[in-house]
Amino acid sequence: MTRKGILFVISGPSGVGKGTICKRLLAKMPDVYLSISATTRPPRSGELHGRDYYFLSRADFEHMINNNEFLEYAKVYNNYYGTPAAFVQDHLEKGNDVLLEIDIQGAMQIKKNFPEGVFIFIQPPSVDDLESRLNLRGKDSPESIQKRLSTCKWEMDQYIHYDYVIVNDDLQEAVRLLEAIILAERCRVK
Ligand code: ADP
Ligand code: 5GP
Repeated sequence: MTRKGILFVISGPSGVGKGTICKRLLAKMPDVYLSISATTRPPRSGELHGRDYYFLSRADFEHMINNNEFLEYAKVYNNYYGTPAAFVQDHLEKGNDVLLEIDIQGAMQIKKNFPEGVFIFIQPPSVDDLESRLNLRGKDSPESIQKRLSTCKWEMDQYIHYDYVIVNDDLQEAVRLLEAIILAERCRVK
């Protein structure tokens, strides 16, 4: 039986652990393909162009917008972030499942154009946990951390627009739940 791939869209507040969960998931499920986003944000220490993001100038990003090369894009904390369309469309056509790790605005754009996607929200156990994770990660300036925390309460309420919610308290359990969602969706009849 041939089938189209499933699009899994993961969102949640910055610092909740989306990147960590997705990395572990992909190590367990190499047949899921992670879309690499483009951004105008500068790389953090240790981040690589083409692995973590495609780090683009504003002009190059806007050129891609004008050429309709994004499935969705959004301005997050004063920088552009977007999902290149070709990678996602090619894999879905081939029957491969694709994972997007994107912000809420982007996820809602995808939901409008692609309602058959599976939308998963990652919640922190508490705002205090989120703050300590952002601080422990140590990769954002204090101003950038404050900006992220100021929007997190609104973001945490947006889970109602998603199909599933996972509380990332114990990391291993959160990865297990994501894996379970993917496996269950693969068995779905409709
Ligand atoms: P996001 O991609 O959502 O911005 P990250 O994956 O970068 O978040 O995680 C932010 C920080 O929180 C990292 O330092 C990561 O190691 C840590 N972290 C992730 N999950 C957990 C967890 N379940 N418990 C404690 N710390 C966690
Ligand atoms: P960060 O700067 O911490 O890597 O990411 C900031 C926010 O941008 C996170 O919420 C992340 O999920 C989101 N993001 C990353 N890539 C994309 C994308 O392609 N599109 C959208 N809309 N958001 C993205």
